[in-house]
This record gives sequence, C-alpha cells and structure tokens, in this order.
Amino acid sequence: MTVALVTLHATRYLLAAGAAWLFFWTWRGNPMTRERRLQQADFTREDVRREVLTSLRTALIFGTLFGVVYAGLPVVKLEARGAGAVLEFSAWLAALLLVHDTYFYWAHRLAHHPRVFRFLHGLHHQSRNPSPFAALSFGALDAVVQVAWAIPLVRFVPVPSLVWLVFSFLAIGINVIGHCGVEPYPLSWQRHPVLKWLNFATMHNQHHVVVRGNYGLYFSAWDRWMGTLLPSEAAAVDHLTQHPLEPVVLQGVDRRQ
Ligand SMILES: [Zn+2]
Ligand SMILES: [Zn+2]
Repeated sequence: MTVALVTLHATRYLLAAGAAWLFFWTWRGNPMTRERRLQQADFTREDVRREVLTSLRTALIFGTLFGVVYAGLPVVKLEARGAGAVLEFSAWLAALLLVHDTYFYWAHRLAHHPRVFRFLHGLHHQSRNPSPFAALSFGALDAVVQVAWAIPLVRFVPVPSLVWLVFSFLAIGINVIGHCGVEPYPLSWQRHPVLKWLNFATMHNQHHVVVRGNYGLYFSAWDRWMGTLLPSEAAAVDHLTQHPLEPVVLQGVDRRQ
C-alpha cells in the first residue's frame, strides 16, 4: 500500500509539473507564456533541481504517511446511484476543497510567523521565482503540516475513495498552476464578481516575491476576509492589462511594497 501511494504521489506531481513545464516553458513561442509570464528572470538550474528533489521527497513523505493512515481501511464507495452519485461526488469534492483551503490558509499564515518561518517554511521560499516544479517543494516538517488536515478525515469520515483520488489530482493541478510562472486565466476573471474569489497564479507568484500576504490555495476568500490580499494585486492586474507584452509586473509590484 505504501509503495503504491508513494508512486501515486510522485507520479501525479511529475505528470502535472511536467505538463506545465512542457506547455509553458518548452513550447517555444507559446503566446500565453510570452504575454503572461509573471517574472522577467528565467528559472535557474539550481532552483529547478532543488524544487524537483524536495518535491519528490514530499511525495515520499505523503505516500508513507497515508500508507500508515490508510492501513486496514476498506475502499469507501459512493452510496447513491445515477444522477445522485454525481451530486454526492460533487458535494464531497467541494467539501474537501473548502476544508483544505481553510486549513491551508491558516497553517500557511502561521508558517510565516517569524518564530517558525525559517525552519518550517523557508525552503519553499528559496524559490523567489518558482517554476511549476516548486509545487511540492517543502521541508520535511512543512510536508507533514501540509497533509495533517487529511489524516482525521481519512480515519474517521467516510469520504468515498474515488473522491480522494480525483481530489488529489485536482489539488496538484491547481497547485502547479499557482507555481507555473504564467497567469493562465483571463485577466478579466480577477475582476469578475464570482471568479475573483479563485486564487490566481498572479497572487501566489506575488506571495513568492513579497514573502507575505496571499496565503490562500484554491480560493482568495480568506485573504479577502482577513485583509491579507496583497494591496497591489489590483495594480498588478491593471499593469498586465495595459502592458500585456511586458513581463515585469511583479518587479513593479515589489517596488511598490
Ligand atoms: Zn509561503
Ligand atoms: Zn508556493
């Protein structure tokens, strides 16, 4: 079980980060990369190497931990059939995203406390210009904190196994998008009354530049409610909108802080 789970976590990471790398940074002339890259500097070989190695270590930690947590547990199936199963599946998936996003926001915000930042979360922020491979680039303790929320759910809540599987791929996909170095969503979404509640790659990239604020994962709701959304986010969108070919938005944001 543990070997299968380590393989699953490593594979989903390599597939998601590898696909983003190929799409955004290997496909020469990709117009999205040209027009929407978030930092001017190229990735360094040392950064990418560190990101891959530490992310694979995180996959090892995730798989080993869940191997222990899942031990002896049966496969949980959806209870409903037909259209009801789709509803049941969607409700579980939405619940996991909301719970994880809430946990991540507060754990991430605490990890930035000066007393713990360096030894707990500092490794992730060695990537000031993160590549897609930075998605799981955490210190060992940080990696354990990242998944602690799921342990009681796996043990005590009958979340269907299929929901966990789909959630894990969705989670790594969104995580990689946050680190892909390009804003893949239309800029107008950041002003849309509903879609603006998503967490955009622009926001997490800013988090790596400024090393504070924008602590959310899937959504920006907690950042908006708690006043931790970086104030220059709107200015950054304006800048990108007015200068779509000028990939210097974050350097501009950095100077404004
Ligand atoms: Zn952080
Ligand atoms: Zn990050």
